[in-house]
Amino acid sequence: MHDHPEASAAHSGHDDLHPETLAVHVGRPAREPDAPMSTPVHLASTYHAGGAAAYGRYGNPSWSAFEEALGALEGGSCVALASGMAAISAVLSLVPVGGTVVAPRHSYTGTIGLLEDLVATRGATVRYVDVRDTGAVADAADGADLVWVESPTNPALEVGDLPSIARAAHAAGARFAVDNTFATPLLQRPLDDGADLVVHSATKSISGHSDVLMGAVVTRDDDLRDRIVAHRSLHGAVPGPFEVFLAMRGLRTLPVRLERAQATARDLVGRFTGHPALEEVRYPGFGTIISIVVAGGADAAERVAAATRVWVHATSLGGVESQLERRRRWSAEADTIPEGLVRLSVGLEHVDDLARDLELALERADDADDAAGATVPPAASGY
Ligand SMILES: *Cc1c(COP(=O)(O)O)cnc(C)c1O
Repeated sequence: MHDHPEASAAHSGHDDLHPETLAVHVGRPAREPDAPMSTPVHLASTYHAGGAAAYGRYGNPSWSAFEEALGALEGGSCVALASGMAAISAVLSLVPVGGTVVAPRHSYTGTIGLLEDLVATRGATVRYVDVRDTGAVADAADGADLVWVESPTNPALEVGDLPSIARAAHAAGARFAVDNTFATPLLQRPLDDGADLVVHSATKSISGHSDVLMGAVVTRDDDLRDRIVAHRSLHGAVPGPFEVFLAMRGLRTLPVRLERAQATARDLVGRFTGHPALEEVRYPGFGTIISIVVAGGADAAERVAAATRVWVHATSLGGVESQLERRRRWSAEADTIPEGLVRLSVGLEHVDDLARDLELALERADDADDAAGATVPPAASGY
């Protein structure tokens, strides 16, 4: 039912270059004498009449630079938005009133919140699935308008079979969208796997320095692109020019940051798998996020999160600084996520420092008399 053009390098025009090179070079001004090396922060709410941009809510040259670069990495046309949630919201706006969405039961908490809002305000039906169970996803796609997949899921780290899900979604006449925040375009290109839309929280690995909120949608379908742009303009879900500049700067080093952080993550998985203080070490085999399940449940997990010196106790992920958090501290987190699950976002510190710090924190968690965790207040909602 929906068009999803074959993979085409024509969208990027950079098909002969590797992602590492694209990340460095795409989205820069033309190479002319005295042209700036980087696209400047264009602080303008409006433009002289007669052009295509016209007004600051419709376009900005700083946005365009970022969109060109991320679009080249994902292999599609990119629309920058104010946050990951703004990007998800733009995609969900494609679902008609009374429509049906298939989504992972362990989607990001904000996604679940938006889906529940669709149910409450637009009469939508949401069918929650285990993304690992391709047959169940295919069955749920029957009669659906949108199949939404996060892979790996946050924080359960479940992985879906994207090409098979794409085929099932399209056979059922549904669109297929993928939240690619955890994998990044370096590790997974959902448009090549048949997805119609890719969503990013650029707040995370793409920006990579925990100093900016931003999101993006990427697609090869011109009609969908136009609808996402219209949504951005009408709802005002626009990124600030300075935020886009920072995200662009982060994107330049994404490949090298990812390579190092992933190598460290794999090393840590090797060191901590089978650790007596852990019930489980979850890792999908790629990426920079590990979820550990602390034996002893919520209290022990809170003590671990509070006891580290190098790992930062904070929500969010993908920064240069390693971060950790017990996810069930948020009431919005699915109750099928273990109470003792601590999500680790691996950054760029030395692996030995990270390992020793976590080891010491796990030792302290064993000691129930240690009051380190007692000062951590429970988080409220978690959207
Ligand atoms: C953080 C996150 C989001 C939301 O992005 P924001 O930039 O915080 O709005 C969406 N999806 C995933 C997988 C995330 O981790």
